[in-house]
Amino acid sequence: MNNTVDVINFHLTEKCNYMCAYCFAKFNNEQEFTVEEWIKTVDIVNEYFKKNAILNGRINLAGGEPLVVNYLDELIDYINSLDIKVSIITNISLLTKEKIRAWIGKVDTIGISIDSLNRETNLLIGRHSNGKTIEISDLLEILNIAKENNIKIKINTVVSKFNLHEDISSLYKQIRFDRIKLLQVRFNNDCNESAINYGISSNEFNEYSSQLKSYDGIIIESEDMMECSYVIIDPKGNLISNKGNIHKKIGSVFETNLEELIAIAEINYKTFMKRYQTEKGVNR
Ligand code: SF4
Repeated sequence: MNNTVDVINFHLTEKCNYMCAYCFAKFNNEQEFTVEEWIKTVDIVNEYFKKNAILNGRINLAGGEPLVVNYLDELIDYINSLDIKVSIITNISLLTKEKIRAWIGKVDTIGISIDSLNRETNLLIGRHSNGKTIEISDLLEILNIAKENNIKIKINTVVSKFNLHEDISSLYKQIRFDRIKLLQVRFNNDCNESAINYGISSNEFNEYSSQLKSYDGIIIESEDMMECSYVIIDPKGNLISNKGNIHKKIGSVFETNLEELIAIAEINYKTFMKRYQTEKGVNR
């Protein structure tokens, strides 16, 4: 695969029931796409995949929190109808056993974002809804249903000043994740500049990651590796570049051909490939 992308992130909404201090999912749109507009966007992505002979393309549904939108299942069904893989990134607080069962055979991978196993830390970060934080026993029950039904699970952990000295690996021992991603907290001037207050140095991130690097399926992403290596479509259908610590709108998928937008976005294909190659055999 040369200079094409086979994983595209739909940030369906900025809305979220959590309020993480370093959340970067802010895109400054007055309105967000309707399900009809997302369905048209799926068609656009499908055309792009077909034109570029991409057989294992995947659409990753993210947010904000994708489970707050009321059309999520309709969109999943539509993506499935085109034989495109679906993954979902969620803070898991709204995920239920019933929902997981409804996704069997439809959702390839569920990615959960868990930054800490400690309630106090989660409260400090803002990873709570009215003081309610995630209960690990509930989490394990839900994830086990996913695993038993061949839905892959991955975990994303943002490493910041909040959790730098915590050990999350006890969770890895309780459930086998298909992929583990550690991300150095990153700030963007236009959406989460206060994240700089919770930033950690490269050395600190390397030290944290080195303790976990022996786990299967681990991907370690320093903040510079995130630059221009994700294909992001914002809640209003704009392709977004995150070059130089800024979210820049490259253009609307309804106004400009997706291939052209991706070309203008200066994707770093080397970093893109490095991340998703690690998934080969796992996510595709
Ligand atoms: S859970 Fe994710 S989307 Fe929600 S506030 Fe936290 S970082 Fe942002």
